Amino acid sequence: MSTTVEEQKQQKAFGWAATDQSGTLSPFNFSRRENGDEDVTLKILYCGVCHSDLHVLKNEWGFTSYPVVPGHEIVGVATKVGKNVTNFKVGDRVGVGVLVGSCKTCECCQQDLENYCPQIIFTFNSYNPDGTKTYGGYSDMIVVDQRYVLRFPDNLPLDAGAPLLCAGITVYSSMKYYGMTEAGKHLGVAGLGGLGHVAVKIAKAFGLKVTVISSSPDKESEAINRLEADSFLLSSDPAKMKSAIGSMDYIIDTVSAAHPLLPLLSVLKVNGKLVTVGLPNKPLELPVFPLVFGRKLVGGSDVGGMKETQEMLDFCAKHNIAADIELIRMDEINTAMERLAKSDVRYRFVIDVGNSLSQ
Ligand code: NAP
Ligand code: ZN
Repeated sequence: MSTTVEEQKQQKAFGWAATDQSGTLSPFNFSRRENGDEDVTLKILYCGVCHSDLHVLKNEWGFTSYPVVPGHEIVGVATKVGKNVTNFKVGDRVGVGVLVGSCKTCECCQQDLENYCPQIIFTFNSYNPDGTKTYGGYSDMIVVDQRYVLRFPDNLPLDAGAPLLCAGITVYSSMKYYGMTEAGKHLGVAGLGGLGHVAVKIAKAFGLKVTVISSSPDKESEAINRLEADSFLLSSDPAKMKSAIGSMDYIIDTVSAAHPLLPLLSVLKVNGKLVTVGLPNKPLELPVFPLVFGRKLVGGSDVGGMKETQEMLDFCAKHNIAADIELIRMDEINTAMERLAKSDVRYRFVIDVGNSLSQ
């Protein structure tokens, strides 16, 4: 089959990629498709660093295709818009999250649940329909179909707002879907990292009582004083965990590594719900006795659809919710990854792509 001149046109791109399982990132030249009629091209200004980036860099889930340019909490400015693009114009503040494509016709896509489409195209470590690989936001620009581009509200900071595009929507969507938003109810947030700290803020905006369940004693005072959680439970303190038995209506579990579920199920009330959004590389053991004798429910949830992601951004803008971030330069990313692996980040690294990525 012959390719037309138009198909051969490419835009030059530059980012940082890992080429093997060490996960070490280094400068990488590549190309992206020319902006099509349905596309928006973004100049990337900021990109959040999600633990999923780290799982993929190290091939912890077993499906990494190197080279990999991570990054799916992308904020930037539209620099090109295709002729069929209706919602965006050049110069707009825009965001891109975890997905850049889906089939647009299946039941999930029709219900604004593109994130569950069997043909989902992830922002990185995935393949476009033409067979080319997707590369993420640790790079200077990206080309995305307008359906998967978000309007970034004016009063959200571009840097601290970037993590909402994955961390924010993941905790917002799971809380909404599982009915964990009723004011006055008690939510446990397991794991106080990128997702966990945004969960605390969103839960407080819903009017929930929030307890952080953490393995890091040094996060206690920040959880209470800065993030305004109502209480803090050290998961390694059996006496404290025992005193909390049967006290919570819901738990959102954001822990990135394998961990026992029994202590979490025990602190739930009868009819309580535990929703896991963390993606450890090993299966979790599910104790059924507390489920059966307490009529408890365990579920999971994956980011959110485009409509709900926009709703979440507007909700966060209205409630002045953004992430607590450590802004880093692109060339600090490998050290940041080492710290992220040790849960040593307050509470999300964001790369200052616009000011620090250069050839
Ligand atoms: P993160 O910033 O590293 O936070 C994870 C937290 O888990 C850590 O801060 C730590 O909190 C706790 N933790 C880590 N290792 C632990 C261990 N061995 N035992 C007990 N607790 C431990 O990661 P993140 O970016 O928030 O992502 C969290 C998880 O969600 C990752 O697996 C990521 O891949 C996944 N994720 C899923 C979705 C989705 O759509 N479902 C979206 C984004 C991310 P403490 O110090 O408080 O204990
Ligand atoms: Zn993520």
